[in-house]
Amino acid sequence: MALPTILLTNTLSARKEPLKTLKEGVVNVYMCGPTVYGFTHIGNARAALTGDLVVRTLEYAGYKVRFARNVTDIDDKIIKKAQDESRDARSVAKEFEAAYDSELAQLAVRRPDFIPHATEHVEGMHAIIRGLMTKDFAYAADTPFGKDVYFRVEKFKPYGKLSKRNPDDMQAGARIEVGEAKQSPLDFALWKAAKPGEPSWNFMDVGEGRPGWHIECSAMIHAIFPEGLDIHMGGLDLIFPHHDNEIAQSEAAFDRELAPQWVHNGLLTIQREKMSKSLGNIFRTNDFLEQFGAETLKLIYLQHHYRSPIDFSDEAILRAEALVERLYRAKTKALEHAHVHYGHIEMPAAFKNLDKLDECLFDDFNAAKAIGHVLGALRICHKEDKPELWSAWGHACMKIFSRVFGLLEADPTQAIQAIRARRLSRMKVTPELAERVDLELASREELRKNKQFEEADKVRQRLEAEGFQIMDGPDGACWTVPEKP
Ligand SMILES: [Zn+2]
Repeated sequence: MALPTILLTNTLSARKEPLKTLKEGVVNVYMCGPTVYGFTHIGNARAALTGDLVVRTLEYAGYKVRFARNVTDIDDKIIKKAQDESRDARSVAKEFEAAYDSELAQLAVRRPDFIPHATEHVEGMHAIIRGLMTKDFAYAADTPFGKDVYFRVEKFKPYGKLSKRNPDDMQAGARIEVGEAKQSPLDFALWKAAKPGEPSWNFMDVGEGRPGWHIECSAMIHAIFPEGLDIHMGGLDLIFPHHDNEIAQSEAAFDRELAPQWVHNGLLTIQREKMSKSLGNIFRTNDFLEQFGAETLKLIYLQHHYRSPIDFSDEAILRAEALVERLYRAKTKALEHAHVHYGHIEMPAAFKNLDKLDECLFDDFNAAKAIGHVLGALRICHKEDKPELWSAWGHACMKIFSRVFGLLEADPTQAIQAIRARRLSRMKVTPELAERVDLELASREELRKNKQFEEADKVRQRLEAEGFQIMDGPDGACWTVPEKP
């Protein structure tokens, strides 16, 4: 059976276009992974979750995906941290790789098929650098500590083709920093001479040193995908210089395109001024997961297109948390009615969109649009509360939630209990009080449904007078206890 066409926004062509693969039905995907020197930020989690969305969607569509995500386990920042703490760089890298793995496991991110480490590929980097030096694309330069090797950017004519930057324009604004041995300001390091006390490898004819950052990815991609790559991924912040440099090294060394398709995820901004103090320390992924749960973070990301920027605010987080709970309740209802036959009833118009969920995902991985359809139909379920609708909704949505989003997979009762427990410990209110607020909001919802708006407003005013903040939205209200100024 023919596999569905997948459309993706390709940064290289700057267009949305159908996915092409070297081998029919197989997709080779490489994603630039973390530099493991500290705890990750929720923005790092977005990159990993975008990779997960792409890989899972392709697998759901029937493609076989061979997915590699590297670990940068040697780098200036790792060395600095090791020196500051008088420890071995290797132990720093191991500690933070383990932390990263545990976060991604909580986020139910599919494990890559290949997890190459930079330090395991130093020989491969030597081979590429040697080849580049032979072709005069790279040169060694003396430093007080030994020899650096630089890539000669000027000689690689298509330089900047991914970021659409013109090397001549870049040249004008660039300069060589004091202590740098390069010949031209745009040249970048492939190999750095080892300073005293730094971890190092012996590079024949050049000397003791360690690899530059960009060369790692070129070597690992070549080792894992000698036949070539289909999709290269990473954050928008990596396009320049990292990805332009990867392209320059690989294409100059091997005389063929590094990757025909580049998929980049958007970045995160945080409305610091709008974030309350109590939420002010959740930028570290592990803190966020502890306080709000993995599914809250996932849902926020999935509700935005992977390329769009996201502005985090405390309200957005609380809404997403409330929505996870609402979806688990809906799952319970859907499971209760899963056996109900629904083929015979006329479906409301909003339900027709549930037939388009695959279409949304295959059109540039538009999870946000798919979730919009899911929520649209859910509002109808709540309004009409018919067993057939709950059954139809569950059958249409649950497959995608589990296979593509990796969401709503827990037991609903336990998941809801966990959300509540986290909320109580965050807001420092008793379970009895929280239950009363929930009940009052539910009664207010009923009043509004029955158009008794005046009565409904009184409930809100009463809760606000007690110090609760109520936030209304298309999917119901949620509440919090605001931080005292
Ligand atoms: Zn890379």
